[in-house]
Amino acid sequence: MQLFKRVDQLQSFLNAERVNNRSVGFIPTMGALHAGHLSLVKRSLSENQITVASIFVNPTQFNETSDLDRYPRTPGKDLQKLAKVGCNVAFLPEVEDMYPPGHNTELKIDFSGLDARMEGAQRPGHFDGVAQVVKRFLDIVQPENLYMGQKDYQQQLIVKQMIRVLDLPYQVITVPTAREEDGLAMSSRNVLLDIETRQKAAILYQTLQAAKTRLIKGEFPKDIETWAMKAMTQPGFRPEYFSIVDGYSLQPLPDQEELAELVVACTAVWAGGVRLIDNLPLRGNM
Ligand code: AMP
Repeated sequence: MQLFKRVDQLQSFLNAERVNNRSVGFIPTMGALHAGHLSLVKRSLSENQITVASIFVNPTQFNETSDLDRYPRTPGKDLQKLAKVGCNVAFLPEVEDMYPPGHNTELKIDFSGLDARMEGAQRPGHFDGVAQVVKRFLDIVQPENLYMGQKDYQQQLIVKQMIRVLDLPYQVITVPTAREEDGLAMSSRNVLLDIETRQKAAILYQTLQAAKTRLIKGEFPKDIETWAMKAMTQPGFRPEYFSIVDGYSLQPLPDQEELAELVVACTAVWAGGVRLIDNLPLRGNM
């Protein structure tokens, strides 16, 4: 595996590969890698000749400095994991190289309301930061294919919207959520959970699954949302939102919810001091 820390070094390597018409797949990550991240890398390896994974804890998408400060960082282990699955290139840039002084890397995109609710409402500026860093990475790497996790459902829609609005020539592939045995979605933040909270954290996935059963039985989405918020309000757990939305527009479902082809439930829950998110399609396929 090749390791690059500088933009110009990565670009010279990729330019040489492109002369040979090699297709490039790209996976942006913030590190502290787990099997979920590696499933994106493996998917890219099976669909491209060169797979580039980046590790960069992007300061512009954190709306709280305390969250940025305690975000887990394990670069040595991450590189071992990437090499083990056969990743071709690891890219670990510095903040100064991603956002060089004097470069205009700011980006304002019209997300058509996709950023109005859920993570967008709870974390002001978060998606502007995500769009900014993904655009900068895409300019640098210029991959054929970009791999994003379904775990961050709203994020992958935002990135697709950015690519549409800016008319960029990249395909986004959304990869299903990898879960622990008890159903908890894998996340770099899971290592911050204390033992007791970790044991109870499967409640997010259990509630999402129960919501699916309730929707199939004909319960109204609004009633399911109210039920789910209550079900997840447990000692040590504080749900922030549980929203059943149209899977394309992320808008609340209309009264005739049966008209929505793709219905997704998304949730964010404070578990101890750790904020976890998860989602599940309740009807239809992505
Ligand atoms: P992060 O390092 O959290 O920014 O995640 C990097 C990429 O990995 C994003 O596209 C995430 O959606 C994706 N990802 C994170 N956790 C999972 C998971 N459990 N399953 C699949 N993809 C994931």
